[in-house]
Amino acid sequence: MKTPIVYLVGAGPGDPGLITVKGRECIARADVVIYDYLAAPALLRHASPGAELVYVGKQGGDHTLPQDGINALIVAKARENKTVTRLKGGDPFVFGRGGEEAEVLVEAGIPFEIVPGVTSAVAAPAYAGIPLSHRKMTSTIAFVTGHEDPTKDQTGIDWPALARGIGTLVFFMGVKNLANIVAELVANGRSPQTPVALVRRGTTPEQVTVSGRLDDIVAKVKHARLKSPAVIVVGEVVGLREKLKWFENRPLLGQRVVVTRSRAQASDLVQALEELGAECLECPTIQVVPPDDSAPLDRAIADLSAFDWIVFTSVNGVNGFFEHLFGASKDVRALGRLRTAAIGPATAERLKSFGLLSDIVPESYRAESIVAAFRKEEIRGRQILLPRAQEARQILPVELTAMGAVVREVPAYKTRPAAAADLDALVRRLEAKSIDLVTFTSSSTAKNFKALLPPGRFQELAAGVPTACIGPVTADTARQLGFDVRIVAEEYTIPGLCTAILDHYRGRRGTPP
Ligand code: SAH
Repeated sequence: MKTPIVYLVGAGPGDPGLITVKGRECIARADVVIYDYLAAPALLRHASPGAELVYVGKQGGDHTLPQDGINALIVAKARENKTVTRLKGGDPFVFGRGGEEAEVLVEAGIPFEIVPGVTSAVAAPAYAGIPLSHRKMTSTIAFVTGHEDPTKDQTGIDWPALARGIGTLVFFMGVKNLANIVAELVANGRSPQTPVALVRRGTTPEQVTVSGRLDDIVAKVKHARLKSPAVIVVGEVVGLREKLKWFENRPLLGQRVVVTRSRAQASDLVQALEELGAECLECPTIQVVPPDDSAPLDRAIADLSAFDWIVFTSVNGVNGFFEHLFGASKDVRALGRLRTAAIGPATAERLKSFGLLSDIVPESYRAESIVAAFRKEEIRGRQILLPRAQEARQILPVELTAMGAVVREVPAYKTRPAAAADLDALVRRLEAKSIDLVTFTSSSTAKNFKALLPPGRFQELAAGVPTACIGPVTADTARQLGFDVRIVAEEYTIPGLCTAILDHYRGRRGTPP
């Protein structure tokens, strides 16, 4: 029989990449995940599809479930012999009440493990460019709760010792109490000129830092209307930020970008844009599915020896072809004599993963360039197999036929509009005008994106939003649909699209490329 276990896991400070390997495994293994307001929602993606996900909140004082209720819930779920992962922001044992939860588990006789996390006290300053220690500046660091009212009679904080004895101070939960904290430090002997920074939502795309000195930080924070959750960092090391603020210097920081590729293909684009600082909203508009009729593909596969060339125009085409090749109990040896062409590097790369090199990779990644590449080959009378999208453009078969080749075009897959799971969230953001850019990686993503929007609201929601397109064909389609195309990639690949987006933003900000 299964035995119960509870993992108290640190979810890290917000960037979903800052969870530990072990923490992620605990999420994947869980029957129940009980998570907080500060745990990155993206982490729930690691949970198994059947897992129960329970949100127990905690925003400021507004607890969705009081701590006693949380403790009882953890115990109750474990007593059902379940694997329970209790996911807590930052580190569970740093101002996270993880100690209390563990005590309750001991009392209930339930086995548990603690998986430490990256605490916001370390991570938020790191992303703000503030090293907590520096050989020349400080040799001591303290983590302090800022939640306590320092004027109350019985404070648990030794203010004179903190003010004078410790180099770097990091306060949690202190935004509301900032004025008191500052007053107490200065009254107890800390120089009013000491540098201070507040880092809000550190490590997330919404990270904001306000910095100053003890004597002006209260006014600055008020002016910036900075709210919780933020850490307050006090000490000379804060001064290093001007030199080291790598995260906030990234060119796309704070830009909200919609990515419309199919979920399976979006990740490379999302990753590249996130590395530049953008916040990506995945809105898959297309889904790759088998073609209406696979018989032509199967017949071609049965008859491979009849062909001289096989031309792939997309990763999906390669995937569809090999699925059917393997389905027919054949492998790459069936392609032995055939020459191959791939329309672009991603397609060539995919082909290579199946053990085949491409004899032709055209210079630029459009049907037109493949045609140009074939002009250098003797293809008159040659048999060319073209496994590709059911609804693909006609230029390639037409041109190759005009050059004297015999082209057999077979559908290897088709795309269809995907129902966007998070459509409501997208519409709300479009209504709030908080989307900075929409990316289109093919004509169908543009068409499907428009089709996804609530009927009759295109003008209001999307017409004015800047879009970036992977190439001129996609850009033409997008313009015809009424989108405001501002960026067109010069190289028709995902890296090319990212470069074009980057150049655009750099240009706008006046930074040299
Ligand atoms: N266990 C958590 C702290 C929980 S207390 C940890 O180790 O990080 C909640 C406080 O943590 C907030 O009030 C804020 O001060 C801080 N905090 C949590 N996440 C933060 C973030 N991403 N950026 C800045 N401060 C954060």
